[in-house]
Amino acid sequence: MDTQPIGELLPPERMLMGPGPSDTHPRVLRAFSIPPVGHLDPSFVEIMDEVQSLLRTVFRTDNRWTIPVSGTGSAAMETAIGNLTEPGDTVLVPGNGYFGERMAKMVKRAGGEPVVVDAPWGEPLSIEAVKTECEAHDPDIVCFVHAETSTGVKQPRVAELTGVAHDHGAIVIADTVTSLGGVELEVDDWGIDAAYSAGQKCLSCPPGASPLTLSDRAVEKVTSRDDPVRSWYLDLTELGSYWGEERAYHHTAPINNIYALREALRIAVDEGLESRWDRHERVAGALRDGVTAMGLSLNADPEFWLPSLNAVRLPDGVDDGAVIEHLLTEYSIEVASGLGALSGDILRIGCMGHSAKPENVLAVVAALGDALERQGAVVDAAAGLEATTEALR
Ligand SMILES: *Cc1c(COP(=O)(O)O)cnc(C)c1O
Repeated sequence: MDTQPIGELLPPERMLMGPGPSDTHPRVLRAFSIPPVGHLDPSFVEIMDEVQSLLRTVFRTDNRWTIPVSGTGSAAMETAIGNLTEPGDTVLVPGNGYFGERMAKMVKRAGGEPVVVDAPWGEPLSIEAVKTECEAHDPDIVCFVHAETSTGVKQPRVAELTGVAHDHGAIVIADTVTSLGGVELEVDDWGIDAAYSAGQKCLSCPPGASPLTLSDRAVEKVTSRDDPVRSWYLDLTELGSYWGEERAYHHTAPINNIYALREALRIAVDEGLESRWDRHERVAGALRDGVTAMGLSLNADPEFWLPSLNAVRLPDGVDDGAVIEHLLTEYSIEVASGLGALSGDILRIGCMGHSAKPENVLAVVAALGDALERQGAVVDAAAGLEATTEALR
């Protein structure tokens, strides 16, 4: 038996510039460390109201049904898909990235039939393709990913997409995990029926409580189901007893995650959503200018560029794993490799929330230039740094 005592927890200090988590804001960390009260304490009930109200503000919605789901973004994703999908439902899912594939898996588990709207990885869905699939399959639900973290692509023309879905009587579910609090998102104006997100991306919270909002129309589909939702834990009709008027026990809320989320949302609202979107664009724009001046290119077409996640194409012959390791061991900077169809071809550099600041992108551009030169790649590291500095001026 191993009798060595386990030492104090001392993880390295990282600069988190990958696809999430992002660096947690110090104010959020302080809120996280406040001793928990009970999940039905009158003071906590007030905090629940505040969090719900703040969530409506950042989602830009009046939806009554707006809550933090216990768990990471995937829990909020499964709550949306699992509650809205009834057995036998036809559900359009996007084929243009990793998270659309996850949606399809969840639809199947809920007893629905996913139909893929095809588009290459690295491109958005075309409205025409959504229309064609709607006409061919008459779906009950249409899903899309607003900010595809696997490809660095932002879905444009969302209001048109939801319009097509609504013309066919379908409910629209949006994955807004990497857009909420980072890039423009208008749940009500764009006609999104259900949107879910996560804390640890553009809100810079520790993972664990994940925003979800549902329109009355979406709630109506959930409450008129014939079969109960397959998951007891994520069943919205059950969760409604806790987050609705009644405030009765369903499961113990992750109190400290809710404290942290409240502070993160307050920070976002204090900054102002428009200012926050502008900051992400400006700071990530400096990163983009730096890597392009260095001689690299972004995977996404400029029209669909997603500031919160920059997919940078690597020069031929460069080993992505070696670059990532160099950034981590020499500079303590975390970035990530490509997934699926883009595996080995790109680096994914996040620029989210508290991590979206000038000093971080300067450090990333400098460290990346060094890592690529060490790999023997022909890049102009100095030009990269100069372009980033210039853009931040
Ligand atoms: C991160 C992410 C998720 C999953 O969230 P987890 O917190 O990892 O469970 C879902 N969709 C997108 C687009 C994401 O970036």
